[in-house]
Amino acid sequence: MSTDIKEIFELTGELKPKDMELIEKAYDFAKNAHEGQKRNSGEPYFNHVFETAKILATLGMDSETIAAGLMHDVLEDTQIKEEEMEKIFGKNIVFLVNGVTKLGTLKYRGHERHVESLRKFFVAMANDLRVVIIKFADRLHNLRTLEHVREDKRKRIALESIDVYAPLANRLGMGKLKGEIEDAAFPFAYPKEYAETEEIIKETKETYKKYLDEVSVELEKELKKQKVKYVEIDYRLKHKYSLYKKLLRYDMNLEKIMDIVALRVVVENVEDCYRVLGIVHSIWNPVPGRIKDYIAIPKPNGYRSLHTTIFTGGGGMAEIQIKTKEMHAEAAYGIAAHFAYKERGNKKAKEDKSKFEWIEELKDLKDIAGNSEKFIEHLKMDFFNDRIFIFTPKGDVVDLPDNSSSIDFAYAIHSDVGDHISAVKINGKVSPLSTILKNMDIVEIIKKESAHPSSKWLEYAKTTLAKKHIKSYLEKNSLLNRLRSFGKR
Ligand code: MN
Repeated sequence: MSTDIKEIFELTGELKPKDMELIEKAYDFAKNAHEGQKRNSGEPYFNHVFETAKILATLGMDSETIAAGLMHDVLEDTQIKEEEMEKIFGKNIVFLVNGVTKLGTLKYRGHERHVESLRKFFVAMANDLRVVIIKFADRLHNLRTLEHVREDKRKRIALESIDVYAPLANRLGMGKLKGEIEDAAFPFAYPKEYAETEEIIKETKETYKKYLDEVSVELEKELKKQKVKYVEIDYRLKHKYSLYKKLLRYDMNLEKIMDIVALRVVVENVEDCYRVLGIVHSIWNPVPGRIKDYIAIPKPNGYRSLHTTIFTGGGGMAEIQIKTKEMHAEAAYGIAAHFAYKERGNKKAKEDKSKFEWIEELKDLKDIAGNSEKFIEHLKMDFFNDRIFIFTPKGDVVDLPDNSSSIDFAYAIHSDVGDHISAVKINGKVSPLSTILKNMDIVEIIKKESAHPSSKWLEYAKTTLAKKHIKSYLEKNSLLNRLRSFGKR
């Protein structure tokens, strides 16, 4: 494998001379430092840090992050001292490298302990989000070369990647990275299930492809006719691990899963998204209940797009996702997209309403786009200040506004959980529903089918989501009661 610095520059796109210089300096420094060291696979150690830097370049990260990516193992694995690195590269980069090193010394002890791993991540994130992104890139390359690692260690790394890294990447809106981490870890974490999933995909892929080929040809023709400009139309197979999780939910019956392959239509602006949806529905009949407007109502992690599933004729179905270039980049890179799309300084802010709140705050920083120093200052996440992070006993994280209660937490998980809270344990202790949660609390909701919201709950709820659900339950219920008593008369 070649390790030519040009490969990195091809991925970054155009850089200022001083940024190129910094990356070149880091490249030489790391290459010298790792001279003679080998990976388990027998290749030069430098290949690993080089590939890590390439992943960071693909994510559109800034030059400091790429430089730190190149040097991320220097302090841990070579004789080089911190002072020496600081003299050449300054405090910021040493801070990043140290941060990655510290995250790396964490020992993963299985599912039940991964709340601790996550806490560590959140601490790192609070200092500088870039540390976590470098760690993601490092981990992704390690996963891609996992076959060379001892078997017991392999499994541990793969499980940790699925349990800790992937959910966190998802939380940060980095859907593409999440999918890549899971897919790279899947065969090592769950070999049998992986083989099964592969088999199912192999059997059905061709049929799905055929449908989508037909659909995309016809759609392209119609878009041209109606003069809608599109940036790209293509389709992709669902990531394997997420397909597997979906199969589990549907008794391994692929026929019930309609989005194993999805056609993606990328257009210039939001208006065109809706126009394309209209055109799609004028050609094919939509499957009822499958039209999702994630532009008007984005997913909690900020994902935006229009989804619909159509009958393609001949018994086939296909999912179509319609989004703008910007939405597409965000869905792939999440927070990292904010480094990549610096020209967004000129874009109108309107489109960006109702995002996952702290990503929203990042977006507000676009006025200072181009001034990456300031941008990075903000990335140090003081906007986490008025948010708290609450864990489920399994280690899933929910972020809530300050002063939230268990009721907010329950509704943030699922409306069905909220509607049936019977009791709450906070950090293992049974506590009143009115208790105000503290950052990093572990909250367990005990559900009971017979438990229901009462008007008292409205006083304890802080989020609009929880209030909305409680009110709607109360309204529905009082109506029902009235109808019942009416019937009795
Ligand atoms: Mn590494």
